[in-house]
Amino acid sequence: MKFHFPKSPKPEHIAASDWNNWTWQLRHSLKTLGDFEKHFELSADERAAFTEGKELFNIRTTPYYASLSGGPGESIRQILMPQRFEIEEGSQQMLDPLGERKNNPAPRVIHRYSDRVLFLITDICSVYCRFCTRKHFTGQEQAFIRNEEYEQALAYIKAHTGIREVILSGGDPLTVGDAQLDRVLSDLRKIDHIEIIRIGSRMPVVCPMRITEDLVKILKKHKPVFLMSHFNHPNELTEEAAAALELLVDNGVPVMNQMVLLNGINNHAALVQALNRRLLYLRVKPYYMFQCDPSIGTDHLRTSVEDSLEIQKELWGHLSGLAMPNLSLDIPNGGGKAYLVPNFQTAHEGQTRHFTGWDGVDAQYVSPSADKIKKPLLGSYMEEWSHLKCGKSQND
Ligand code: SF4
Repeated sequence: MKFHFPKSPKPEHIAASDWNNWTWQLRHSLKTLGDFEKHFELSADERAAFTEGKELFNIRTTPYYASLSGGPGESIRQILMPQRFEIEEGSQQMLDPLGERKNNPAPRVIHRYSDRVLFLITDICSVYCRFCTRKHFTGQEQAFIRNEEYEQALAYIKAHTGIREVILSGGDPLTVGDAQLDRVLSDLRKIDHIEIIRIGSRMPVVCPMRITEDLVKILKKHKPVFLMSHFNHPNELTEEAAAALELLVDNGVPVMNQMVLLNGINNHAALVQALNRRLLYLRVKPYYMFQCDPSIGTDHLRTSVEDSLEIQKELWGHLSGLAMPNLSLDIPNGGGKAYLVPNFQTAHEGQTRHFTGWDGVDAQYVSPSADKIKKPLLGSYMEEWSHLKCGKSQND
């Protein structure tokens, strides 16, 4: 089956040249109660959330993303529209669920794993997703990192030779202009030990017109640059989004998608398979399916771990491994990722493990005895491995 990606419903009075221009989308984004009232018929709860909850987390959407949303309860509307539940008490509410503030050795740098760092080059996003995990930082509306902080962050990355990978994040790094992004990528490419650059962005979802030929040329110039997209629902895959993804992939920019399971928005196997099969068709690899972090104001958006495992179990055996994202939970307070997988092992005695497969096949796997296990010749790979493992502490 070939998939159909519908065009976004552009309002007639807006010229196509404006609608398809990313800077127009950002300049005309909806930010205030008045802006939203012009576009949506707000429910009493949504209106209350605007007046009582706006201190908690900034509110903003592009006209493009707003055009994809429907009435109250519709999935995209729940992602972009504040809800009264945000200000209610929840079962777990953390301002910094990933413990980023304690792993912040230089301005705008989060260094949690030895071989990679997050570099937060802006705190602005074109849509403030209600499930955001970085509410302690995002949305303070400082368009680009200050020069002094930028230099300190670069100096830290340069000095720590174990860092192999830099993940540009924010905020949304693709809200910054081409010249600034080119400068950041050029500066990182001058650092000998940086192998991979990732850009984590929701722009292909909420403002796909940002993926221009000029931008793609910049990404190609600084290869390898991976783009990590954040599609959460198949309705986000419009003709414009599909064209943006194809432009990236056709030009050799690998795209991987990280989705978040969201309560009442996408927490059903039918939606998860629909999203990920379409992404795969567009040559985007479904990478992670995250358990929503217990970020403040998100209790109503979080699924239970049991619900998430049930969805994954339903998909198992029916969805190609290529289309299957890894279900994962970030252990609060910076504990790192924990993969969640259905438990197919039913018993374990000595060298023998018993399994029941997804469709009920019972079988056992017998390991060779421990005395037969030996390690291979390593050559210079051992030195590389030791260097990688101590990356975080090097030059500290
Ligand atoms: S785009 Fe990312 S950083 Fe920005 S609000 Fe959404 S989830 Fe948070």
